Amino acid sequence: MLSFDLVVRSRRAVLPEGERPAAVCVSGGRIAAIEPYHAGDAAEIVDLGDTALLPGLVDTHVHVNEPGRTEWEGFATATRAAAAGGVTTIVDMPLNSLPPTVDAGALEVKRAAAAGQCHVDTGFWGGAIPGNAGELAALYEAGVFGFKAFLVDSGVPEFPPLSPAQLGAALSAVDALFVVHAEDPAAIAPAAASPHYADFVASRPPSAETGAVGTVVAAARETGRRLHVLHLSAAAALPAIAGTPNVTVETCPHYLTLTAEEVPDGATEFKCCPPIRGAGNRDALWEGLASGAIDCVVSDHSPCTPELKRADTGDFAAAWGGIASLQLGLPVVWTQAAVRGFGLGDVVRWMATRPAEIVGLTRKGRIAVGYDADLVAFDPDAAFVVDAGRLRHRHAVTPYHGRALLGKVLTTWLRGLVADGVTPRGRLLSRGEA
Ligand SMILES: [Zn+2]
Repeated sequence: MLSFDLVVRSRRAVLPEGERPAAVCVSGGRIAAIEPYHAGDAAEIVDLGDTALLPGLVDTHVHVNEPGRTEWEGFATATRAAAAGGVTTIVDMPLNSLPPTVDAGALEVKRAAAAGQCHVDTGFWGGAIPGNAGELAALYEAGVFGFKAFLVDSGVPEFPPLSPAQLGAALSAVDALFVVHAEDPAAIAPAAASPHYADFVASRPPSAETGAVGTVVAAARETGRRLHVLHLSAAAALPAIAGTPNVTVETCPHYLTLTAEEVPDGATEFKCCPPIRGAGNRDALWEGLASGAIDCVVSDHSPCTPELKRADTGDFAAAWGGIASLQLGLPVVWTQAAVRGFGLGDVVRWMATRPAEIVGLTRKGRIAVGYDADLVAFDPDAAFVVDAGRLRHRHAVTPYHGRALLGKVLTTWLRGLVADGVTPRGRLLSRGEA
């Protein structure tokens, strides 16, 4: 009988065709066979019983911030948190780190900063900013998975937004996936200093998203390029995307869980852009997932120092916009999905399979022969209360502190080896070879 390096048995293995008992057999870091539950011989056998076995999650929207703003978050802390949360692949955003990843030289700087520190596999986005269209082809050749662009102020001066015309120029410079922060600056009012969340959310209405999503869809239709709408909050923008096969869209755990109504005065850990909206909008986003109008769910993990969150004044206008959730995305989404009648297979499709497909990670995001043995033992029935101080993020600032959640990550395997945050075995991924 063929002997493998590792066999993981589960009565609830979440495979592409559905959930069933299986033995996932691993050789050389890849899934070599999927056998009946009791079959498969290996040097190491793990029997999970009724604990579910999922593919490692693929989080294509993470702001690591190193080098340059490592005090906000860094590769070691972010990827440890990822592994603890069942995320085995991240793709790092090109801004907030210094230099921003807007040319091939900056990508080299970022890869050097990440080397030897990553506990999960890590890829990189490039950035499209005014004036760098001439750099994009070389940056794409150097291995980024595509390009991020803003249509509104990014929050950092070194990464300015593109006008619709500049977006068109970037799209014609390179045949790549463009991922877009879609808010229309003309529809956004300057937020006045206020500790009341209602004032902040009123300053960034749904029309800011619907307008900018219209710009993205028009660009996709004109150029035929693939575009992707990042962190959609306003469900009202979904109809504009329908019928445009070269446009995909993601939303985030916070938009699917938190509501504007519940944000306490001064609780700036809830601030992100676009904002968390009302409960009716949250329910409409779940309908978008159910219908397939929304492709995937990724974290948009975007932490900063507690000082920049202005916890002292609680001023929503001045606080940094970004929510830290990398380690918690799976239980946050599962807690809501379970009560809304979705299954683990749905969560896997939204958080592993589709993100991998969209960015072209051909060996990630599913439990199938030939794929990397990135696996997660997940107890979907275990309840716990979030203690922000015990998270592996650099800072203990998250809107989920004190929240009761369902579903615990018990073990994460990266290419067949346990990823427990001790030995950083993550690889730096490049487009094409990943
Ligand atoms: Zn982001």
